Amino acid sequence: MDLLSFVSMATKRRSDYFAQAKTLARKYKEQPLLEKRMRSESLGLVKGLRDRLMKWDEYERTILDKTLTSALASVILGTKNQKSNERMEQAWPSIVGDMLPPLTKFLAETKEYIDSGVLRIGDQTLDFADYDFESALGMEDETESEGTTRKPRGQTWPALANRVINYVATPTYAFFNLGEYMVSRDMGYKEMRRVAKNDKKTCKDCRRYDSQGWAPFGELPMPGKGCQCYANCRCAIEYR
Ligand SMILES: [Zn+2]
Ligand SMILES: [Zn+2]
Repeated sequence: MDLLSFVSMATKRRSDYFAQAKTLARKYKEQPLLEKRMRSESLGLVKGLRDRLMKWDEYERTILDKTLTSALASVILGTKNQKSNERMEQAWPSIVGDMLPPLTKFLAETKEYIDSGVLRIGDQTLDFADYDFESALGMEDETESEGTTRKPRGQTWPALANRVINYVATPTYAFFNLGEYMVSRDMGYKEMRRVAKNDKKTCKDCRRYDSQGWAPFGELPMPGKGCQCYANCRCAIEYR
């Protein structure tokens, strides 16, 4: 499906997504729990496609639905469930704008792998359980980043699942932060700081933002932006 079709499909189903997102937010309550849930749903989806439980069209539509509802639910969690509809309205353009173009490209690529036999439907030679999701997480879908070593880009079923996770599960953190940001702006906070985890995975950019300390509101890039950790960035933003 092309980007335009995806966008119009998403627009048509927007109020359904809003309703589903509220249910999700109510059910999982915290971003890490939502992320965990979405990771396992991503695996289920890819297995479903591989094991012929799901046809391509359904797979594609389900990934679109889950990408959008999990992003919306994350915004709700970031805003602590206040004014959910209004917040989702506000976040909707950035969710669609951030997620749909790369998602369209990613799905087209998957379809190509299937059509050309790189990914074989029914092929169970590689077990999901043996795949190291943690170490591969997030590192392979940074199409914008140049000069970093590329890992295999979804050419096996488990590696494909890992890429699905990058759309359906990992962005929950960024959209959770967006929710917090919207609330903090409305509360009139004047400053923000980015607090890095400072473990061995923290990149030098994140350490630099961390050492900068307090900055005027809106002046620091959000976690995952302006750093080499991208979607894996787990810096926290504090406001005052
Ligand atoms: Zn970083
Ligand atoms: Zn970071």
